[in-house]
Amino acid sequence: MARDARQDGRFVFAVRTTGVYCRPSCPSRRPRRESVEFFSNPNEAERAGYRACLRCKPTEISSQAQYVTRARQLLDDAEGLVTLSELSKRVGLSPCHLQRLFKRATGLSPREYRSARRMQNVKAGLRKGDDVTTALYDAGYGSPSRLYEKAPEQLGMTPGQYRRGGSGASITFAIAPTPLGRMLVAATERGLCAVRFGESAVDLERDLRQEFHAASLQRDDAGMGQYVEPLVAAIRGENTSIDLPLDVRATAFQMKVWEKLRQIPRGETRSYSQIAREIGEPTAVRAVARACASNPVALAVPCHRVIRSDGDVSGYRWGVERKQKLLDKERVGRGCT
Ligand SMILES: [Zn+2]
Repeated sequence: MARDARQDGRFVFAVRTTGVYCRPSCPSRRPRRESVEFFSNPNEAERAGYRACLRCKPTEISSQAQYVTRARQLLDDAEGLVTLSELSKRVGLSPCHLQRLFKRATGLSPREYRSARRMQNVKAGLRKGDDVTTALYDAGYGSPSRLYEKAPEQLGMTPGQYRRGGSGASITFAIAPTPLGRMLVAATERGLCAVRFGESAVDLERDLRQEFHAASLQRDDAGMGQYVEPLVAAIRGENTSIDLPLDVRATAFQMKVWEKLRQIPRGETRSYSQIAREIGEPTAVRAVARACASNPVALAVPCHRVIRSDGDVSGYRWGVERKQKLLDKERVGRGCT
């Protein structure tokens, strides 16, 4: 619908009523949704009996988008390390050119993309119960040190701690009453690691202890004031900016989404697809929604400011009612700056 040229080469759409298929950026008038069929490439559309649009010439796209798609596939399938020069040779572009195209399309350099991908695989392996060494070799790391070099910035904790429920981390938390119910706020010495809502302080504490079962946890309501106060003020609708340090485990992708969310001004909202476009991954709308849903720190990462493009407030990890209340408060407070 957005005629986003960055999607050219990723799919084509065909119109049943005219028998023609187009690239996503075709300037022609948009057909009704029910008469549209999608195909991943021109060949498939033609096999289904459609012919190419004379206006947007979908068979001639190739070039840029296809280079990027090809490079992504190579990186996804690669077993070990892939250098930029190897990659560019296999794709058929100069290293500089490929780097630029790739970054524009994905928001990451090929190297960052590969590293984020591998980190996801390690985390999946650890969650599955693999030991650290197996998870890391399976994900294509040649040696443990390479993973550990990356770990603090991408996981927030070292992989061993991650697997063992935060062992070695020391976490202080507080539970405070708010207009949205009980709020649990937890932080390590580096920053916030959890902000959650619930009806019962007992349940909130139990869940936190379960998740960080190997961390040393202590409740200190007074000592957490510097974190709790700005959060409570924000809930009351006071025009506070929440700029607290975070210590959260995240994939590179989640980090990118959460960073974007922190840039949405108070009183405004964005749609999931807007965020996907802004991070340079316009097709990743569902992944963006998942990243919002997995936000561990309510308010500090304002995932409540992301709604559906039709205006529906959509879901919220801590209940749609709380999301609606937050948005109402923020809208009222708007214009006080
Ligand atoms: Zn067309």
